[in-house]
Amino acid sequence: MSGRHEKEKGVNVQVLLRCRPFSEEELRSNAPQVVSCNEYNREVAVSQSIAGKHIDRVFTFDKVFGTSAQQKDLYEQAVIPIVNEVLEGFNCTIFAYGQTGTGKTYTMEGECKRSKSGPNGELPTEAGVIPRAVKQIFDTLESQNAEYSVKVTFLELYNEEITDFLAPEEISKVVLEEKQKKQLPLMEDGKGGVLVRGLEEEIVTSASEIFTLLERGSAKRRTAETFLNKQSSRSHSLFSITIHIKEATPEGEELIKCGKLNLVDLAGSENISRSGAREGRAREAGEINKSLLTLGRVINALVEHLGHIPYRDSKLTRLLRDSLGGRTKTCIIATVSPAVHCLEETLSTLDYAHRAK
Ligand code: ADP
Ligand code: MG
Repeated sequence: MSGRHEKEKGVNVQVLLRCRPFSEEELRSNAPQVVSCNEYNREVAVSQSIAGKHIDRVFTFDKVFGTSAQQKDLYEQAVIPIVNEVLEGFNCTIFAYGQTGTGKTYTMEGECKRSKSGPNGELPTEAGVIPRAVKQIFDTLESQNAEYSVKVTFLELYNEEITDFLAPEEISKVVLEEKQKKQLPLMEDGKGGVLVRGLEEEIVTSASEIFTLLERGSAKRRTAETFLNKQSSRSHSLFSITIHIKEATPEGEELIKCGKLNLVDLAGSENISRSGAREGRAREAGEINKSLLTLGRVINALVEHLGHIPYRDSKLTRLLRDSLGGRTKTCIIATVSPAVHCLEETLSTLDYAHRAK
């Protein structure tokens, strides 16, 4: 939602669209391009041939990032203000939503196997939202004269079951194959929030510590991917940073600001469109999609100001309850491919994202 509208309704959901460049394979096969972005007008046009007729469908978003947009562009234009809100003590959530292979993980994590800062503390150009947000947070905290603490959690939600990416024990191939990964229960905390019993909460004191944790988490995920047959396209990953800042007011009173930033790499959106077609076939399919479907309903209910917000209908929305709605900011980054072979999924992503506005 944009500007004036947003204030009237008091809901703060921003929807961005990012179109990735052609892959080498798509370039080699001369795949026709069906998506074109007009960043200035914040429009995306999709061309379709229906019954021999050429039709353009145009969608408008709060921001549009075309194939040549860099990680830094997206971060500076869309994420910096959100992280500033978190540092002011608000809870905010950024989602990456889209078909598998369209750049969700690239956008959130980036190609940052070496995400550690360079000699001058700068990040690689390919670093995504997570390392950049971590850097902005610590740069700000370190430049202020205030006491602070920072905690992170990193988990995966697969089939409505939670796995901790930061858990200390090694996940072996055998354990994974037997599907005996430690699953963590979700509990109400009695204050309107939820907590995951047994989830590792790491206290970190510098950006480089978080980068080490992230690598540990991502390595675990890569192992899971290898052995669980591309599980990652069907799972959600949730990286959360909680910041407490102790400040003194001019009157000498102590003020604690607490803000949380959730960064969510959602399951591939093809999982919902497909499940619609073969509803009820496998319990697994239904369960996996529950969080993605419920998220759409929750955001829709928030935007439409419906009385009942169905947070309780999935684990993902229960987990994010304190960061969706109310005085929070939500940003959805919808990712699409420019190529014709993704056309159907691209249209369904654009429709889903557009509905959230
Ligand atoms: P997803 O997480 O949505 O399945 P990925 O992030 O893994 O997709 O992206 C698929 C491939 O496309 C990766 O090789 C990634 O590096 C590349 N890619 C995605 N988005 C971009 C982009 N904006 N610029 C350059 N390469 C990208
Ligand atoms: Mg991914």
